[in-house]
Amino acid sequence: MTDLMSKIVSLAKRRGFIYPSSEIYGGFGSGYDFGPLGVEMKNNIKRAWWDEMTKNHENIVGLDAAILMSPRVWQASGHLTAGFADELVECKSCHKRFKADEIQHPRLNSLTSGVCPECGGQLTEPRKFNLMMRTFVGPVEDEAAITYLRAETCQGIFMNYENVLNSMRLKIPFGIAQIGKAFRNEITTKNFIFRIREFEQMEMEWFCHPKDAKKYFEFWKKERLNWFINLGIKKENLRLREVPKEERPHYAVETVDIEYKFPFGWGELEAINNRGDFDLSNHSKYSGKDLRYFDEKTKERYFPYIIETSGGIERSFLAFLCNAYQEIKGGRTKTTKPTKEIEILLKLDKRIAPIKVAVLPLVRNKPKIVKKAKEVYQLLKPHFVCQYDELGSIGRRYRRQDEIGTIYCLTIDFESLKEDDLTIRDRDTMAQERVKIKDLIKVLKEKMEN
Ligand code: ATP
Repeated sequence: MTDLMSKIVSLAKRRGFIYPSSEIYGGFGSGYDFGPLGVEMKNNIKRAWWDEMTKNHENIVGLDAAILMSPRVWQASGHLTAGFADELVECKSCHKRFKADEIQHPRLNSLTSGVCPECGGQLTEPRKFNLMMRTFVGPVEDEAAITYLRAETCQGIFMNYENVLNSMRLKIPFGIAQIGKAFRNEITTKNFIFRIREFEQMEMEWFCHPKDAKKYFEFWKKERLNWFINLGIKKENLRLREVPKEERPHYAVETVDIEYKFPFGWGELEAINNRGDFDLSNHSKYSGKDLRYFDEKTKERYFPYIIETSGGIERSFLAFLCNAYQEIKGGRTKTTKPTKEIEILLKLDKRIAPIKVAVLPLVRNKPKIVKKAKEVYQLLKPHFVCQYDELGSIGRRYRRQDEIGTIYCLTIDFESLKEDDLTIRDRDTMAQERVKIKDLIKVLKEKMEN
């Protein structure tokens, strides 16, 4: 793991963003749990995406389909066959397993030479390994009871395409957006939360006339790239990659990946796929139900093409963390004495930061100041995600808040008792201004929206 990644992983655990799953039992299959700050931040990412899809576009509606579906869904979708399998190779000496395409890289070239990149032992021939996670429904664990944890959320959307179309009286083009868990029995998990076996996807399926598919593919590519940029991801760390035919998922006519430059290299954040009519035509064939769309005006009956935007929440989360992480050598406040200290600043976008406001009494041994600070905390709590902190020097508390990306620190001091006001310190500029407590909610709301 790179030095920067180790620092981010350690910060994430230390400050309550992300913990290893089942840690007291030695961890579990590179699963991760989101702590108090992690869940706030994750919810903020989901909220930003949901609002973008369902509020900023006129004709996108939401859905929350069940994770467990009929296994026939997965037969029709092609996920039970070779289409959704990775190639696995194993070292005969150290028994390490690798995804064949990972070690096919020209620099490593282990696959063609048949040599293990870890220990130099001999590799087995690649064999197909299906990524679907199996489970049983009902009390008897026989073949008939087998079903699967969904490997992509979009199948729930295709299952409800007709329900949504009819109940919401929609006309093509329109979109259905969904956020939810997906599961893949990945051969290897790595790079913290980048590749895990249980993750969350935010997917939007855009149903359109086949002749418009190209136009909308271009449209969504730009929209999605801009979403990340608008939320503060640096442009130079984002790129679009046209995925060549041999690498594309089995259902895709065209794929472009939005990639982010993680500390360990470029990695896929989100895929934009033109799925053609693969899904609706296959589900029609397998279910016997005609899922073609009927255009009342033109009297045309056709399978809509689907343009999909498919992003992983954990990967976005990791990109936001990496993008925001800054180390300031010598500290942020220039003192007369040079200091060797390194301060961490998490410069997250206001919408993504988990804690919006911290309430800090200047000192904790003056009951009147503490009382006032607690009153301010109670006042703000219903409006903003807040923290109250009275431990340690004020400078130290500012640093603790900077490290988790808190946007504003409010300090209640001696003057506050006389003036009924406090100081607001801005995370990014460190500028401080005094504000009357009676105006506080209004001022903070304006600042947050700015
Ligand atoms: P990769 O090539 O990295 O395995 P993929 O091409 O299989 O990814 P898609 O099927 O396009 O991924 O899934 C859409 C999105 O879901 C990805 O862009 C990613 O953000 C997320 N995702 C997929 N697999 C995982 C995983 N194992 N862990 C975390 N996120 C994932």
